[in-house]
Amino acid sequence: MASVFSKIVAGEIPCYKVAEDAEFLAFLDINPMTPGHTLVIPKQEEDYIFRLDDSSYLKLMAFAKKVALAIEKALPCLRVGLAVIGLEVPHVHIHLIPIQKEADMNFSNPKLSLSADEMKSIAAQIAERM
Ligand code: AMP
Repeated sequence: MASVFSKIVAGEIPCYKVAEDAEFLAFLDINPMTPGHTLVIPKQEEDYIFRLDDSSYLKLMAFAKKVALAIEKALPCLRVGLAVIGLEVPHVHIHLIPIQKEADMNFSNPKLSLSADEMKSIAAQIAERM
């Protein structure tokens, strides 16, 4: 069965898109830890990041770097943190999280609830800086 992220790639379920190219897609996490929390995925479904071949892994990282730099320009933050968890969705994804402090990277924190308009506006602000 296709992952929820493959359904996003196929346009079967919506997302707040930040950036895309032929191989990769970046969109806002629906349960953000901080405003601008973004997921970067390969369009081709693979479960575990460390099973990617070196070329796909390095291209994914290079794409994530571009997105991180755009997040940094678009939103007030000290750094953009990067994390890989992957326990919930079995489709490779990198979390990019604009942070002010170390605790912003704690995945046990309560998630933010932002309106659709806020999410749209944040995605557009990042997309403009790509
Ligand atoms: P994990 O697999 O543990 O790295 O967590 C998966 C992440 O995907 C969580 O932060 C979810 O909030 C996020 N997520 C799940 N479904 C969607 C969706 N449809 N759109 C955006 N983010 C999602």
